[in-house]
Amino acid sequence: MGLILLATDLDDTLVGDDNSTQVFNGLVSRMRDQQKIKLVYITGRSPESYDQLKNERSLLEPDALVTAVGTEIFLDGKTKYDNWPMVAEWNSELIRHSLLNVPSLEEQPKTEQRQFKISYYLRNNQSSYELVKKILRHHPVDVVYSMGLYLDIVPRGVNKGSALRLLADRWHIEAEDIIACGDSANDISMLKRNKAIIVGNAKEELLRWALQAGNENIFLAKGFYAQGIIEGLAYYGV
Ligand SMILES: [Mg+2]
Repeated sequence: MGLILLATDLDDTLVGDDNSTQVFNGLVSRMRDQQKIKLVYITGRSPESYDQLKNERSLLEPDALVTAVGTEIFLDGKTKYDNWPMVAEWNSELIRHSLLNVPSLEEQPKTEQRQFKISYYLRNNQSSYELVKKILRHHPVDVVYSMGLYLDIVPRGVNKGSALRLLADRWHIEAEDIIACGDSANDISMLKRNKAIIVGNAKEELLRWALQAGNENIFLAKGFYAQGIIEGLAYYGV
């Protein structure tokens, strides 16, 4: 393997058990000293809420940071990459307005509403989810429903996976040298084209996807949180 791009989700993937996170930090720091790895965090959080988590959990400084489920990219973890996403049409007011009458759909706090992400809470409600998709079927958007609670609307094709691909292209890293780690449905876009590690505590929605996808580039770890990532890295010979 050449240079590895390790991309990981944060909540309930890298973060969840502080001891394992610290073991992960030690392992990855050593590999970075030898310039063997690029570390990227890919999270649904806003940059502010990421900063808070990073301090609370003593996370390593990443080589790049992707926030708001793929709609924002920070190079070197700090510098916003302005040419992302390339979107011709995005009218968040219109989208919000069209969804006003969807039952049980509740807007998330202002801090989670981003330039290219509209976020709601929706508690275990498949019929409202279907209704949202139906209402927005002529809009160039994707609707992502995770953990039976978080419903995000983003420009079509903009997700954790496409943000990761942009970084890989910039760094000239091939898909076979990309390892992505996750625990829930909004991680699927980055898990599916790369070597995937699914942590042992993953949500059923993701396990269901993994069973259907059934390819050898999906590793189902036994260990929870960062322990699962460490297990997966060993599986892939890193
Ligand atoms: Mg997660």
